[in-house]
Amino acid sequence: MTLDQVKSLVRKNVLQLSPYSSARDEFEGNASVFLDANENPFSTGYNRYPDPHQKELKKRLAELKGVAPENIFLGNGSDEAIDLLFRAFCQPGLHNVLIPQPTYGMYKVSAEINEVAIKNVPLTDVFDLNFDAVSKNVDSNTRIIFLCSPNNPSGNLLSANGIERIVNSFNGIVVIDEAYIDFASTPSWTEKLSTFNNLVILQTFSKAWGLANLRLGMAFASPFIISILNKIKPPYNINGLTQKIAMEALAKPEQTKRWVEEIIAERKRLEEKLTELASVEKVFRSDANFLLVKIQEARKQYERLLERGVVVRDRSNVQLCDNCLRITVGTHVENEQLLNALKAL
Ligand SMILES: *Cc1c(COP(=O)(O)O)cnc(C)c1O
Repeated sequence: MTLDQVKSLVRKNVLQLSPYSSARDEFEGNASVFLDANENPFSTGYNRYPDPHQKELKKRLAELKGVAPENIFLGNGSDEAIDLLFRAFCQPGLHNVLIPQPTYGMYKVSAEINEVAIKNVPLTDVFDLNFDAVSKNVDSNTRIIFLCSPNNPSGNLLSANGIERIVNSFNGIVVIDEAYIDFASTPSWTEKLSTFNNLVILQTFSKAWGLANLRLGMAFASPFIISILNKIKPPYNINGLTQKIAMEALAKPEQTKRWVEEIIAERKRLEEKLTELASVEKVFRSDANFLLVKIQEARKQYERLLERGVVVRDRSNVQLCDNCLRITVGTHVENEQLLNALKAL
């Protein structure tokens, strides 16, 4: 898509509005007396508003991800980026979005909050894209297609070929949610950012970086799409403490790399051990930090695991996930506890 075509997808009111201008927006430079933001002058360590544009953090992230700071939006979790994409591109009561199912539940919830209709299209029985089903269901009011790769709850990567065909042929925004990309065997789609004006890639600090509590999500897209998201975000959406702790984490990426390596090794071990259990019918191939496991009497197993203090996610009622549990890869000791509990059942 051309940039002008992408521009034409933005809601008129959003395109036209002037964003809130904060005190920190209107003054930039060196000063020693700050009497512009009605802050309390007595230091608590937190009495000043944070940087609304998270400049330092984006600069460091840009280096790490091989993109420009102008390609980065930061949100209060990926969930905020998802919600803002609806508000930027979808007119309530008119537009719709397409969601291959089963997948992450937030796209649907966010659509419903924003009164945007949903076209659910099933993934194949190995949880891959069905390109024909996707393209058949797109209509002139379809604004966003959500692709989760590696997909939650199945754990697999969607085929790169299928994704590329969709990004190439769809006249709307394609969101690729890469929350689990650090655990995957393929590179991020951020490499293709400059090729596609309609591409939005979501990543998060909640998984590999071990910072779910902070609520910090990333969106990578063309500078134009990022400018639209920035225009409609709450001015200080990323608090100062979050920015500080994220900077500290980014200063030691080798720690994250070690965790990821250990989790991937445990994923392999857990997959093998689970496959040996008589009650387990199938362990789906995973490129994430969890395994989808088809098991006899999943609900009963779930409840009995709970009695032993082990909590997993019962996905039995989800489309294509009949009798499936989604099990996060824990530490070696935790995974042993899970395996022992399953053996005892
Ligand atoms: C966990 C997860 C996220 C992360 O969301 P945050 O709001 O950043 O914590 C995003 N997408 C998917 C598919 C996930 O499973």
